[in-house]
Amino acid sequence: MITTTRKMAAKKHIALVAHDNCKTALLRWVKEHQHKLANHALYATGTTGHLLTKETGLPITCLISGPMGGDQQLGALISESKIDIMIFFWDPLNAVPHDPDVKALLRISAVWNIPVATNRASANFIITSPLLDKEIDIEIPDYEAYLKERLD
Ligand code: PGA
Repeated sequence: MITTTRKMAAKKHIALVAHDNCKTALLRWVKEHQHKLANHALYATGTTGHLLTKETGLPITCLISGPMGGDQQLGALISESKIDIMIFFWDPLNAVPHDPDVKALLRISAVWNIPVATNRASANFIITSPLLDKEIDIEIPDYEAYLKERLD
């Protein structure tokens, strides 16, 4: 895969998602890091976003609820380079109805090389990273080159 770079601005676009059994854990984490998160643009799947806004007062762009298409909506934003970081507390112990969407979301995050935290420890690493508040370059697939290769 030929790659190129894209700039991530100092103000990051951060997506927050938690499955039902993990919502309390994500809420606790968001409260702990609220002062840092407030400097960035926040997005969340529907239920997660409404819960976090209600409990913290943070401004959050709420997408559709996960099982109703929110994971796919978020995946589309990632494909368009509109999300820089994803904090996704997915439930490793219980099945969810939209499991294919969860897999697709994790896959597309890997394709577009965004930092993803799937649990509290990895989320802590990301939120304390010196890169969080800096403009940085990340490597992404070169879509133009990809398309050209397929059309040649
Ligand atoms: P929810 O969706 O925030 O609407 O609960 C989360 C998810 O399952 O992806």
